[in-house]
Amino acid sequence: MQITLIFPPSWIPSQPFLSLPSLQGFLRQEGIDNVSIRDINIEVMDTLLSAKKVNETYVRLEEMLSRGKRPFAPTGQSKKSFGHAENKDEVFSRLGWAREVIEYENLFQKIEWAKATLRSEGFYNLDDYVESWKIIDRWLQAFGMLYYPSEITITDNSMKYSVYSSSDIIMAANDDNENPYHDLFKGQIMNSIIKRGPSIVGISATATSQVIPAFTLARMLKEMRSDIHITMGGSVFTKLIDNLQGSHGLFELVDSFILFEGEHALLELANQIEGKGDFSKVPNFVYKDGEQTRVNKPFHIEDINSLPTPDYDGFPLDLYLSPKRVLPLQGSRGCYWRKCTFCNLHVDNLRFRQRNTDLVLEDITKLIEKYKTENMFFSDECMPVNQLDSLSSRLIDEGIEIKWMAGIRFDKGLTKGILQKARNAGCLKMVFGLESSNKRILTLMDKGIKTDTVQNVINYCTDSGIAIHMYVIVGFPSETREEALETLDFIRSNETFLDSKGASCLPCLFELEKHAPILRDPGKYKLTSIAHPKHDDLSLGYVYETNSGMAPNEAIDVYGYVKEEIDKRLPIFPYNFSMSDGLLYLDRFSGDARLKTAALAHCNTNGQV
Ligand code: SF4
Repeated sequence: MQITLIFPPSWIPSQPFLSLPSLQGFLRQEGIDNVSIRDINIEVMDTLLSAKKVNETYVRLEEMLSRGKRPFAPTGQSKKSFGHAENKDEVFSRLGWAREVIEYENLFQKIEWAKATLRSEGFYNLDDYVESWKIIDRWLQAFGMLYYPSEITITDNSMKYSVYSSSDIIMAANDDNENPYHDLFKGQIMNSIIKRGPSIVGISATATSQVIPAFTLARMLKEMRSDIHITMGGSVFTKLIDNLQGSHGLFELVDSFILFEGEHALLELANQIEGKGDFSKVPNFVYKDGEQTRVNKPFHIEDINSLPTPDYDGFPLDLYLSPKRVLPLQGSRGCYWRKCTFCNLHVDNLRFRQRNTDLVLEDITKLIEKYKTENMFFSDECMPVNQLDSLSSRLIDEGIEIKWMAGIRFDKGLTKGILQKARNAGCLKMVFGLESSNKRILTLMDKGIKTDTVQNVINYCTDSGIAIHMYVIVGFPSETREEALETLDFIRSNETFLDSKGASCLPCLFELEKHAPILRDPGKYKLTSIAHPKHDDLSLGYVYETNSGMAPNEAIDVYGYVKEEIDKRLPIFPYNFSMSDGLLYLDRFSGDARLKTAALAHCNTNGQV
């Protein structure tokens, strides 16, 4: 029994994601040794960022342009070469633009330089760091023109198809002209997956940016080996649990879905495929049984103290665009607060669980020894204060030297002593959700935080030398323009935060997400209508109207203003661009005030990648 687990594009290429190493560790612990994990996201990015790929693309552009000059091909052929026939002039001019960019900006050489810079000491030269991401962004724009109107960016992709519609996803997966992932997967990637002879392929999609690439991969695998059981997992599908329950077209491309946590689900799936094939025994499983779609309940919740250390073997750790390995790990699953009325993260984890500190220490020690890294990212939704305290004490007592960061709440239990201890234990940054500084909005959000606690924690962090990232939400239902600007003023006037090393802040536009507690009592939040577009049978959110505060369109304008104002004070690079890059910069430049000045200059002149 061979099991291959795949992490598809698009995802930030700075560090690996935790899901597949956790699953691989568990399957091996349970005696399934023939498991392999593939980060196709970084494999594809590595291939794309090469002089060879630039050359191939240039030749293809020349061919397409020369065919277009004689004059445009007849309709059938032009569809293949130039996208929609009616767009041929625009497509032609975009292909010409891409060829010019590649040639005049010498992307043949520069792309290799950019990739090498980000993987080497040059990463720490802020000018070169920013320039590298700009070159990569430019090259991906040019490459995407082959598939116009589709686009690829560093962390995302877009096509004319909606990722919220099953019929669109199926069309996208079958569109070899405009879906770039068909060309990117065919050949080496597909052959290497098939060569291992898997009985099960699990594809994990944690973001909507991965949905079309994931189903494209599934379709291509089915064409090559229809007997492989393809199962799709990840938080995107867990949130779609009720949508998958009806008979669904996506079963044309995959055999099953795994919801919530996948450890025992994959183990039992392997048992059933080798044994009696009784899928009703597989926990957290959605599958087709004749004309019926079955969802196996009750859902299984993992005991995280029985899980092993994540196993990153098989991930190409030296391919990430980073000079050092930054590995994610978890000290807990779920959120101990679980009350914020806009948040649907509670859906991914049915219950909050905390891993024993002894085991977390063991994980850290094993990762240091096995993967030669001292940089770690706790990807918990929200590290509990008691765990922060005990973990910091143990790291200090046992002399374990790591540099790390974690997501955490502005909890009133975060004392100066605990934060100083965390810093002494190597914590360089904490990621908080401020969301708002307005009392009425914070109460409506049920954040359970007060602005005086927020200010105390900011002061304690900066005194201790821990950098701060804050998320802010603009446009929460019933929020007025004045209330949104009050939050902006809280940040704009907070010199302690703004002047602190490594500070970053990302405003987000409010989105009414599926399963958010708000939906249980829309009247309380002044929502007058809630709907999702008819076509979008896989919608992860809703459009809404409100009779109080900013209308959704006004919220978009205010969000734009808030973002612009925050960008003026806080540099995008490196801290607002990539958390793991920011961790490495903090480690290297602790105490270097020049970095912030230089980064601001970049922000003001270059904008965001
Ligand atoms: S926003 Fe954060 S603290 Fe609030 S419920 Fe969600 S994960 Fe928990």
